[in-house]
Amino acid sequence: MALRVGVIGGGQLARMMIAPAVELGLELRVLAEGEGMSAGLAATAVGDYRDLETVRAFAADVDVVTFDHEHVPQDVLRQLVADGVVVHPGPDALQYAQDKLVMRARLAELGVPQPDWAAVRTTTELQAFLDEHAGAGVVKTPRGGYDGKGVRVVRAAQDAHDWLEALADGEALLVEELVPFVRELAQQVARRAGGEIVAYPVVETVQRDGVCAEVIAPAPAAAERLTEVAEAIGRTIAEGLGVTGMLAVELFETDDERILVNELAMRPHNSGHWSQDGAVTGQFEQHLRAVADLPLGSTAPRAAWSVMVNILGGPVEGTLDERFGAAMAEHPQAKIHTYGKAPRPGRKVGHVNVADDDLDDAVYVARAVAAHFD
Ligand code: ADP
Repeated sequence: MALRVGVIGGGQLARMMIAPAVELGLELRVLAEGEGMSAGLAATAVGDYRDLETVRAFAADVDVVTFDHEHVPQDVLRQLVADGVVVHPGPDALQYAQDKLVMRARLAELGVPQPDWAAVRTTTELQAFLDEHAGAGVVKTPRGGYDGKGVRVVRAAQDAHDWLEALADGEALLVEELVPFVRELAQQVARRAGGEIVAYPVVETVQRDGVCAEVIAPAPAAAERLTEVAEAIGRTIAEGLGVTGMLAVELFETDDERILVNELAMRPHNSGHWSQDGAVTGQFEQHLRAVADLPLGSTAPRAAWSVMVNILGGPVEGTLDERFGAAMAEHPQAKIHTYGKAPRPGRKVGHVNVADDDLDDAVYVARAVAAHFD
């Protein structure tokens, strides 16, 4: 019987595991949050991932549980493990992707380079941190943030007073130095339970309005030292936190060529979509291999350059399908991935990958495809 992999969460990441699961001979099951989700093509259950009994019933019919997002509560995950369910990544690892304060404290123990940071509960504590950091900082809610929501640049403690006032007993906000980065990078690695690790080349990510807009793989003009340091950071974190599956480490590069860890994701990640068409083993296949405890695949690039551009929102006129058709006709070398989502301003509804030996050509074509959807 085929190994059954259960994915909690029905978004586009679960959706993009479907094709590689078929190729690997795995049976993919999805616990989707609602009907008509992106991964609805494979959804076998619909229910609330915060409800223990719902998740238990789903897990009872699979051999390994993994995730499309990091939001399954710790108590639910720990009960699954106590029930004997195989969970990858497990709750011990996942806590560091669920809570940015817990992550910062652990990365400090591991000696991983990161921005200066503090946990703050009051305007006095926050102001003290700002005073030590040239009067500026980035305040973050430790849990539940995504796409820049829950992140605020502050110049005075008063700028975050609403968040501080909303804190419950025992809660704190994370404040970080405002890093003067020259660009953002991402390092992905995959790790199996037995310890085997493979690393992808470090990539450059370009954000617009807090959302990843483009990725270039590998990161252009990356010095050998930078590539090695990024890979070493990825490996250290995967091993140190006991991550199983794909790990994405978001990084800042500073003008003095330091790299600092911004945050972690323990699942396939937007920064790795390029690998679907630009690497021997795409990140969705790699994640499945890792969580199913199969040998990991080669991460070697298939072309000198890969460019990924997110397709956001959707056309003001006409339908997404019409735009996809037109873009495919005009750019046959582009690989367009659709998420089956209704268009909404700012919503990711797909992405395009272009692999080419010429970076400018790849950027041009990928942007031209995405422009069909403006
Ligand atoms: P999210 O969890 O919403 O993705 P992030 O922590 O990744 O939030 O922050 C979103 C963006 O805000 C980052 O991609 C970066 O551009 C900016 N940012 C975050 N932290 C800092 C920092 N310490 N210094 C400068 N910019 C930051």
